[in-house]
Amino acid sequence: MAIDLSELCASGPVLTDGAMGTQLDARGLPAGTAHELWNLENPQAVAQVHAAYAQAGSRVVLTNTLQGNPISLASHGLANRTAELNKAAVEIASEAVGSDVLVFASVGPSGKLLLTGDVSEDDLLKAFGPQIQALGEAGAAAIVLETFADPDEAEAALKAAKDNCDLPVVVSFSFAAGADNDRTIMGADAGRIVDQLAPLGPVAFGANCGVGPDLAVSLAQRYRKIWAGPLWIKPNAGVPKLIEGETVFSAGPSEFAQQIPPIVEAGADFVGGCCGSTPEHIRAVAEILKK
Ligand SMILES: [Zn+2]
Repeated sequence: MAIDLSELCASGPVLTDGAMGTQLDARGLPAGTAHELWNLENPQAVAQVHAAYAQAGSRVVLTNTLQGNPISLASHGLANRTAELNKAAVEIASEAVGSDVLVFASVGPSGKLLLTGDVSEDDLLKAFGPQIQALGEAGAAAIVLETFADPDEAEAALKAAKDNCDLPVVVSFSFAAGADNDRTIMGADAGRIVDQLAPLGPVAFGANCGVGPDLAVSLAQRYRKIWAGPLWIKPNAGVPKLIEGETVFSAGPSEFAQQIPPIVEAGADFVGGCCGSTPEHIRAVAEILKK
């Protein structure tokens, strides 16, 4: 049952999906509402986003569970619905995309800092454990730890994954700090990340969110020098700008798509988009990758 990510990308780059959060916002999710709540209260909207990505050419989609850990959910009064929200997300995605598209489970950081003592490693294990267990039991094909900034928090999530499922794990960080945008906001670069986390057995490393596709090329190159396994790269649709109170992403579909082949040449095996990317962005990438 467990899939082999190396095998999956052996014959060329695998197109994943684009953003979920900004797509749900665009469909009217009220500001301040947990995105995961729509897995129960507006599953049709979540299903529409998945189906649109599958139709655009995504071969992998990610569940609407980025902040589905009980620590993040607690700020919306939803911690006691962790299992329910995560299971529903896998079911919605699986039904929406059919059997040709793989459903990977998105797991993001807790939103609390180990550094300041806001959470302990034990708190994190107890938060990520039940989320990952629910995602695995509902039938996700892999776990994607994404948008992480602190390698220590990702380490706790990796340990929770090992203890609570048998699925392959992708670890993806958001790089948006340092002179070359090659560090996370916690100051970690690809070298430190791979050194610290590779011994825990993730099958892929990567970068998502943070920067636009232009800067993702050098991130892919940096990882490639130190990591021989699958590489996962999902940049934002450009750098967000605040225009008249609205967040606007600068890279349209064709501009975004034109910047994907250099990312693949730099060694990326899984490509897609993060915040601000849409099914149109993914469709444009699918067309460019066909050539
Ligand atoms: Zn993002």
